[in-house]
Amino acid sequence: VSFGYEDVAPEEKTARVRGVFSSVASSYDLMNDAMSGGMHRLWKDRFVRRVKPRAGERILDVAGGTGDIAFRMAASGASVTVSDINPEMLGVGMERAAKRGIEGLTWQEENAETLSFADAGFDAYTIAFGIRNVTRIQQALCEAHRVLKRGGRFFCLEFSTTLWPGFAEIYDAYSHKLVPKLGKALANDEDSYRYLIESIRRFPDMKSFEGMIAKAGFVQTRVEPLLGGLVAIHSGWKI
Ligand code: SAM
Repeated sequence: VSFGYEDVAPEEKTARVRGVFSSVASSYDLMNDAMSGGMHRLWKDRFVRRVKPRAGERILDVAGGTGDIAFRMAASGASVTVSDINPEMLGVGMERAAKRGIEGLTWQEENAETLSFADAGFDAYTIAFGIRNVTRIQQALCEAHRVLKRGGRFFCLEFSTTLWPGFAEIYDAYSHKLVPKLGKALANDEDSYRYLIESIRRFPDMKSFEGMIAKAGFVQTRVEPLLGGLVAIHSGWKI
């Protein structure tokens, strides 16, 4: 499997990804704003509008990191479980929740590939900017399907490949030259941000990823491109 520019053994990738997020946890929010010009907030708002969380629902946010998606969903009164493989990211999230006075979230360390939850317990499964970091993506999608109830919905927000002519080149130049420099300047961590950019470049295109979601058993799969597909919202239903 690929880790940045290198091919590594699957276990090695999982360990290295853990290292990347331990290293970026404390600067994560600042870097998101710096790298996306604040746009990640709008993408996350739109994502949660599509998920439409409702009071009384049980929702699992996987790779939930510092809580960005969970905080937005909790406002609906849904009962949200935030899970992430990295305890440091969860730690930053818990601190943020306490500071903002957001209560009632459940925080749990989990690998998306091997969730500890029982079958068919959740109304919705969300994963935002997380799936491309997972070593065995197809296995994580099958786990998503397993933990959802019948009638449950799957939503994924992830970087993809923009189809807008010209924009792809500009973005490529920006991301490969500027993002690692931003990482160095703001977080003193060039390598982690180099990995993050390379992992975006290696992620399957919108159609292929939609195919993987269908292969996991989801129906009525859909993809909504943002900025021509620079970012995409994929969804599907379990019946
Ligand atoms: N969802 C948050 C957001 O949108 O801001 C965090 C996204 S962050 C870019 C990616 C997260 O995926 C990190 O917190 C990382 O620890 C987590 N992650 C990576 N591999 C994972 C895995 N196998 N299972 C669960 N979480 C994982």
